[in-house]
Amino acid sequence: MNYIRSMERENTYRHILKWGDKREEEVDSHMITLLKEKFGLTDEDLKKKHLPGREEVRLEKPSLLKPSHLDFLGSLCGSDNVLADDLSRARWSCGKFYGELLDLRLGQVPDPPDAVVAPRSHDEVVKIVEYCSDEKIAVIPAGGQSSVTGALRAPQGGIALDLTKHLNRIIEINSVNKTVRVEAGIMGPAFEEELNRHGYSCGHFPQSFEYSTVGGWISARGAGQASTGYGKIEDMVVALKAVTPAGVIETKDFPRMAQGWDIHRLFAGAEGTLGVITEATLHIFNHAPENTASAGFIFRSFEQAVEAMRTVMQSEYGKPHLFRISDPGETDIAFRTSGFDGTTADRLLKGLGFMTGSRCLMFVTVEGEKSYARFVMKKIRRTVRRGKGMFIGSGPVRKWLAQRYSSAYMRDPLMDLGIMTDTLETAVTWDKLLKVWSAAHEYVNRRPGAFMMIHISHVYENGANLYFTFLSPMERGNERQDFALFHRGLVDTIIGNGGSISHHHGVGRVLAPWMEGHLGKSSMALMTAVKKHLDPDNIMNPGGMLGL
Ligand SMILES: Cc1cc2nc3c(=O)[nH]c(=O)nc-3n(C[C@H](O)[C@H](O)[C@H](O)COP(=O)(O)OP(=O)(O)OC[C@H]3O[C@@H](n4cnc5c(N)ncnc54)[C@H](O)[C@@H]3O)c2cc1C
Repeated sequence: MNYIRSMERENTYRHILKWGDKREEEVDSHMITLLKEKFGLTDEDLKKKHLPGREEVRLEKPSLLKPSHLDFLGSLCGSDNVLADDLSRARWSCGKFYGELLDLRLGQVPDPPDAVVAPRSHDEVVKIVEYCSDEKIAVIPAGGQSSVTGALRAPQGGIALDLTKHLNRIIEINSVNKTVRVEAGIMGPAFEEELNRHGYSCGHFPQSFEYSTVGGWISARGAGQASTGYGKIEDMVVALKAVTPAGVIETKDFPRMAQGWDIHRLFAGAEGTLGVITEATLHIFNHAPENTASAGFIFRSFEQAVEAMRTVMQSEYGKPHLFRISDPGETDIAFRTSGFDGTTADRLLKGLGFMTGSRCLMFVTVEGEKSYARFVMKKIRRTVRRGKGMFIGSGPVRKWLAQRYSSAYMRDPLMDLGIMTDTLETAVTWDKLLKVWSAAHEYVNRRPGAFMMIHISHVYENGANLYFTFLSPMERGNERQDFALFHRGLVDTIIGNGGSISHHHGVGRVLAPWMEGHLGKSSMALMTAVKKHLDPDNIMNPGGMLGL
């Protein structure tokens, strides 16, 4: 059989690296002005594209699978569902980590799988995993490929398992239990639209929603924009079905159990290292956007905003769903790029002491039953007022929600301009939050030309996350090494000052080197023992994942 697919027109590295297939975001005029000012770019610079990645994809590493392997997989899943051409292997070799995008721009695909296989059913996944265990072939489960932690690379080759092509159906909506049983490869929009048709919502909206899957959300232990109210993905999983080399694990959908450990939780955050999640049963929520109460607030300082946020979370009158603070860096950029700077309203705010360089935006929504949402929002407004925050209406929140997914498209044009831009995120207790925040800023400020924006977007009674977005001119000619050093220093700074390795992006290969030091030897030994039991031949996403 011939498994080499004919080359498509869009056969370039750029086609693989760009975010989404809906649009390639142009940088708007406010942003252009800002970039010129921050990075000293000229009109000439703006016309050029740095490392655009327009070359045709060619892999140096040949596929190491034998024809007999490909024939077996083709006879099992259908030859259309087994691809071993360079372009397909390159496409499934990575996610959206900055380092991977840089590699693609430099025309490099360091860790391609040997083939891409799209199983059509749970039973086919079982047979693939059995076969790969016998033949010692690595298996990398893949969803929307939006991983930002190098979790989809195939340093040992093997097969990338495309779960999106066929395993993408809702199996059952159970209105009595208020749960949904769904195949793992379904993407966010298809999942949510179908739930909405039945009056429900999934409640999980990562910024990557358009291009990520239920299986990926669970595997990377993700969190959506309304996680403070709805919970993180692991709170939503009731049961799941996973194929491991040691057999199929199928947990039951009881509301709770006291019979040993919650086995399904082992797979939340396993990042494909234990097995392939083929199905999940999740809690669902009422879809009633008309009930949502929204409010924007402004504070004179980050410290005051954080204190008000903590008070809201600890006062026990009900939780917001969306709950965010943008620090002064992010607030200033938001004001500048929205054209707010210099307006009458801006002058008014300044007159009241909400100054550029220290003022902070807070966005809140409360969802659920209408009177509940209003009641909680009323309480929040009172807390915020006492905490010296000022209500600025619900317009800014609605505007933010409307463009929520578009900012993901900005990274490509920024990289085209030779700007390094990446994100990190951490969880931190309230008593250490300001320390991590200021240490991270100090670290980034030491790099000439760099700046950072930080926000809080997932909030708890005992702490919150911090989400860091940094921008800096690339060191041209030494882009990768320069980024690696800078990134390492920032991770060290965050962890050294009391932050966790990750809050919701997972660990993958990028953050794996910090795992043992952070968790301790005994915890790592426990994780390794579980891995050895479920995957004795280390075929599931092998090669440096999670520090295993
Ligand atoms: C622009 C952008 C914004 C983002 N915003 C957020 C955000 O707001 N919140 C958030 O939580 N994350 C965010 N992320 C990170 C990423 O989108 C999440 O980690 C997401 O959950 C990954 O889902 P995916 O389907 O793309 O998984 P993939 O990237 O395909 O895979 C991620 C990991 O899960 C494993 N995996 C995937 N499917 C399965 C399966 N069925 N069984 C077993 N293992 C599997 C893979 O092997 C890999 O280790 C963002 C990423 C980008 C690029």
